[in-house]
Amino acid sequence: MKFSGFKVVKEALTGHAGWKPLWRDPDPQPAYDIVIVGGGGHGLATAFYLASVFREQRVAVLEKGWLGSGNIGRNTTIIRSNYLLPGNEPFYEFSMKLWESLEQETNFNSMVSQRGIINLIHTDAQRDAYRRRGNAMLLAGADARLLDREALRKLVPFLNYDNPRFPIKGGLMQARAGTARHDGVAWGYARGADQRGVDIIQNCEVTGFRIENGKVLGVDTSRGFIGAAKVGVAVAGNSSRVMSMAGMRLPIESHVLQAFVSEGLKPTIPGVITFGAGHFYVSQSDKGGLVFGGDIDGYNSYAQRGNLPVVEDVLEGGMALMPMIGRARLLRSWGGVMDMSMDGSPIIDRTDIDGLYFNGGWCYGGFKATPASGYAFAHLLSTDTPHPTATAYRFDRFARGYVIDEKGVGAQPNLH
Ligand SMILES: Cc1cc2nc3c(=O)[nH]c(=O)nc-3n(C[C@H](O)[C@H](O)[C@H](O)COP(=O)(O)OP(=O)(O)OC[C@H]3O[C@@H](n4cnc5c(N)ncnc54)[C@H](O)[C@@H]3O)c2cc1C
Repeated sequence: MKFSGFKVVKEALTGHAGWKPLWRDPDPQPAYDIVIVGGGGHGLATAFYLASVFREQRVAVLEKGWLGSGNIGRNTTIIRSNYLLPGNEPFYEFSMKLWESLEQETNFNSMVSQRGIINLIHTDAQRDAYRRRGNAMLLAGADARLLDREALRKLVPFLNYDNPRFPIKGGLMQARAGTARHDGVAWGYARGADQRGVDIIQNCEVTGFRIENGKVLGVDTSRGFIGAAKVGVAVAGNSSRVMSMAGMRLPIESHVLQAFVSEGLKPTIPGVITFGAGHFYVSQSDKGGLVFGGDIDGYNSYAQRGNLPVVEDVLEGGMALMPMIGRARLLRSWGGVMDMSMDGSPIIDRTDIDGLYFNGGWCYGGFKATPASGYAFAHLLSTDTPHPTATAYRFDRFARGYVIDEKGVGAQPNLH
């Protein structure tokens, strides 16, 4: 089924009886060339690019729940490429470019909205750090603009500029950053992959790997054994649990991250704003709700729900930044399980087991990475070589000491 303006008008006039499901519901085949474990954003994007760019024909995605049940449907939807380090910035800029053409490629409205992001500056040292970051972004072909206080006040006049506890001195802006409808991204990739022959199998939990003589032969699932020449694991917050079934211990911890949405308000916040003196980020959805979040809950957990101390901490951050938020009622909050790596950067790599590949360690930042992660993982799975923008995302960087520690806080997931 193709989407077009004509089709929308026709369906509106004929009782919407002609819409079909966006993807099939196939039974698993006995074997595939490539099996992707995890039908989140990254697994679906990988399958889409495997089929569309790398022309792989026998591909399946196995998802233990329903599409969008994981972090892809739980995040605060921010996309950006304002990174500093050479291991990261080209990768996230590659992702930004893929976002810019995503809707045309999938012919699906994922509501990609380049409404801009502003990282606030509160100290002179922070201005220096953001100037450096902005220059690194420009060198990698991204866009960046340093705003002084008055330029900022014109754009976002509602912040607390006068007598605040944390004076606002300016901001680093990336105008091409913004938001996208998170589950619309999963649906667009799923539909595109399905149209190209990928079997998307929901309610199919991987319960073990069949490995003989150091080579993976397939996966045991709740729907029986499925053979595979190659298996790519992209299960985000469940990474440690799933890879332990293959006998691997990862440099990853799972923590909960919460998100919050207020009641619908009139258009107030033009883009995404991040507080620089605490951890708080906010944007406004097209329905009017303020969408915001902050720190992870600081204990290890696989539960998709958070705790009250972090709720208080996030709301305090919001009040310090824009006191008017105190007048809005909180409508909903929820949690997702984050795969926090030890340096805050991801892993896209082969494992020591022949035919078994891994994609994870996305921390807070995996939504914006979805297109590039899928592309790079598909590149690795299909060609057995890393994509040029993802060469640093190796397992052995922890053993070799070449960590990609964007925040410079060491192996402390609660600070990444
Ligand atoms: C509250 C919150 C806010 C966030 N905000 C942002 C943001 O603003 N910007 C940003 O860039 N990132 C953000 N993130 C991070 C981002 O959402 C994640 O890094 C990213 O979605 C993870 O990749 P994924 O989409 O593939 O994960 P998921 O959607 O979690 O996909 C993994 C899938 O694997 C499945 N699975 C697990 N175990 C098995 C098994 N044994 N067999 C089969 N399937 C299995 C799960 O059911 C799940 O569907 C946020 C995350 C949260 C929780």
